[in-house]
Order: sequence, then C-alpha cells, then structure tokens
Amino acid sequence: VDRIKHDAPVLVIGLGRFGAATAGELDRLGREVLAIDENEGLVQKWSERVTHTVQADAKNIEALRQIGAGEFQIAVVAVGSSIEASVLITANLVDLRVPQIWAKAISRSHGKILERIGANHVIYPEAEAGERVAHLVSGRMLDFIEFDDDFALVKMYPPKPIRGLNLTESGVRTKYHVTVVGVKSPGKPFTYATESTVVSNHDLIIVSGKSSDIETFAALGN
Ligand code: ADP
Repeated sequence: VDRIKHDAPVLVIGLGRFGAATAGELDRLGREVLAIDENEGLVQKWSERVTHTVQADAKNIEALRQIGAGEFQIAVVAVGSSIEASVLITANLVDLRVPQIWAKAISRSHGKILERIGANHVIYPEAEAGERVAHLVSGRMLDFIEFDDDFALVKMYPPKPIRGLNLTESGVRTKYHVTVVGVKSPGKPFTYATESTVVSNHDLIIVSGKSSDIETFAALGN
C-alpha cells in the first residue's frame, strides 16, 4: 500500500449508483479517474463529470488490457447486482496485477469469494448503511460511524445532563465512558473540545467511544 502514490489514478468499473458516486467524488477530490461501463448511455451521461469514461465489457480481459487497466495501481469494482460479472472482473484485475482492488459485495458469501480471488478491500454498502440506520432511527444520533472493534464516532445533540456544564463538571468521561471530541455551536465552525468547553442547548457534539457506551450516553435523552 505504501508504495502507491496518494494521488494515483483510479479505475472505476461500473457506473451504477455506487460506482458513479465513487467516481464523482474522486473527481471532485481532483483525482484522475477512468470509469468503465458496458452501458453506452451511462458512459455518455458521466463523460462530462469524470475525467475519462470508456464503454467496455470488463468481463473481457482483452478489452481491459487495451484500455490500459493493467497500468492502474488502484481499481474499484462497482458491479454488485451481477455476482458473476463482479467475480470475473475482479479476477481479471488480479490477472492484470492491479495491486489495490476494492470491490463491492452484496452479501457475505459474495464478499468471501471476492477476497479469495484476491480483492484487497471488500465493501458492503447496503449492510453498512442498514446497520448505521439502526443506530439512527432512535433519533438520538444524527450520524454514526462504527469501526471494526466496537468503537464509534457519533454526531448528536448533547443529552440533557451535560448541557450548560463544561466537560469536567459533567464528567462525561468518568461517568459515561465516552469522549466529547468536538463541539459545534450554531453558525460557528466545529472546534475541538477541551475540559473547559461548555456544551450548550443548541450545540452539536461529536462523541467517540465504545458503541454500547455511546448508546447509553445518547439514551440519557433530552
Ligand atoms: P448499483 O447498485 O450501485 O447501481 P449495479 O450493480 O446495479 O450497482 O450497477 C452495476 C453497473 O455496472 C451497471 O451500470 C452496469 O452497466 C455495469 N456493469 C455490469 N456488468 C459490467 C461489465 N461486465 N462491464 C462493465 N460494466 C458492467
């Protein structure tokens, strides 16, 4: 990984919802992108937004070779609904020795196959979004990111017991085992929280900690 340049061009295969979002955001970040889709209409549609778009069937390794896919250091396989295509495309990229392959999976077994073939990173967008929503539906959290090891980062309004107090007085760490990382007052930018930061009614806070501790903290309510 460390020998790959941070700004290396990215090959994106599939311009469905996921691939188009990936390619569009990479482009916005100023990265060079080559996006491939077998659907001519989609290629046309995205040709204005993304640096390079090509119509090709990525199941065909010769087509990939001609496009220069083997020169890329990073590829994203954004084909999900056809597991067969996703698997063949990933295998082609492995054969072309693309060193960093990201592939989207629609199920755990699909992901397992992709890993066995040689995908370096398997993404489960639907499962991840679904799990996130489970934490958000209570309405207590505005955003929720969970990392592998049961550690989360959450955006929320401050629960009532900590409002109007600074972080030492409210004892967020000692009582609730979570850390307030940042605070945003209306109309102001986010600032890092310190022991003397006072959290007010209309502030937004970013909290880190064990997912279960954050759930308990959020449940203290308004
Ligand atoms: P999403 O759910 O993100 O919309 P899909 O799996 O439905 O993803 O979309 C996959 C995209 O990949 C479609 O635009 C489709 O045309 C494209 N695609 C599928 N198979 C191939 C292939 N063999 N070569 C190139 N593009 C492909």
